[in-house]
Amino acid sequence: MRKVLSLLLCGLLVMGSLAGCTTEQKDMPEPEPGQEENSNEENDVSSITISTGDAAPEYAETLETDVLVLGGGGAGLTSALTAAENSKNVILAEKLGYLGGATLLSGGIVPAAETNQQKEAGIIDNQDLFARDIFRPNSYSVRKDLVYTVTENAKNVIEWLEEQGVVMSLITNNLYYGQSNYRMHIAEGGGQGMTTVLIDNANKNDNIEIMLNSPAIELAVEDGQVIGAFVKRDKDETILIKAENTVLCTSGFGANKEMLEEYIPEMINAFPYVAPGATGEGIIWGQIDNIRNHS
Ligand SMILES: Cc1cc2nc3c(=O)[nH]c(=O)nc-3n(C[C@H](O)[C@H](O)[C@H](O)COP(=O)(O)OP(=O)(O)OC[C@H]3O[C@@H](n4cnc5c(N)ncnc54)[C@H](O)[C@@H]3O)c2cc1C
Repeated sequence: MRKVLSLLLCGLLVMGSLAGCTTEQKDMPEPEPGQEENSNEENDVSSITISTGDAAPEYAETLETDVLVLGGGGAGLTSALTAAENSKNVILAEKLGYLGGATLLSGGIVPAAETNQQKEAGIIDNQDLFARDIFRPNSYSVRKDLVYTVTENAKNVIEWLEEQGVVMSLITNNLYYGQSNYRMHIAEGGGQGMTTVLIDNANKNDNIEIMLNSPAIELAVEDGQVIGAFVKRDKDETILIKAENTVLCTSGFGANKEMLEEYIPEMINAFPYVAPGATGEGIIWGQIDNIRNHS
């Protein structure tokens, strides 16, 4: 359910994977003559590649953690806090010098049905009506399982945010885009208010290590499994962060002209009302077949 919370908040792509080896070191020097027999599997890094199957980049150090979260917007913060709540050690690597992403810029408005706020306001709603409002504008063409994942769990998102300390209230003075009922819940302070609470909680959590200015540059893959990522720590040296689970929360591609041209050319001249970090690399990594088919 916790992964679902992240999905709901921000469109999370989870690349769950098991770290299958104990490789520690990079760039092993050539063995001295006669010492070849000392080489063993632990020191054999040749099996680690990037998502395309190409060779791994050179890296200065290997860190290990239970959960590696890439991207520190709404989905990343939710994933990190949820993993930490479950006693996991987390490293959260964020490309920019601050957390929040598009979630920080957003209105902080979350649609949800059957919430306490609706009940208190006497509003009768249900998940099926909520789902129909999502299906209708696209003529029922989108994936039903994803829509129902959202509608069935959105209430949990509101409650989880409240547990974190975010104050959520129901908007009852106007119906939002395509909604047939009052089900928009807004965070006090909007997206900034919501992310401020989550960032504070993440900063206070001893299980979470936050690395700012540290973009993931590629996923690390071994035997078709994602075992972590290569990260440019402080935008300087490349390190390998190995994790039992790697969570891709790097958002969309609204700030990437080439991807806009390829996937939504009609948006190319639209005002770029997007977060600067939305350059789409996580989407590209997640599309690579040799990962998708194994993770
Ligand atoms: C102005 C505006 C208003 C909006 N209002 C609403 C609203 O009211 N309600 C609603 O439901 N939606 C709204 N949205 C959409 C919503 O904000 C987003 O869908 C949501 O915030 C996405 O969350 P996310 O965590 O997936 O991405 P983000 O919050 O954008 O987080 C992604 C993070 O990943 C980082 N990142 C990217 N690449 C890398 C990398 N290689 N390595 C490390 N980090 C990386 C980014 O810098 C960023 O911090 C709005 C969007 C905008 C722009």
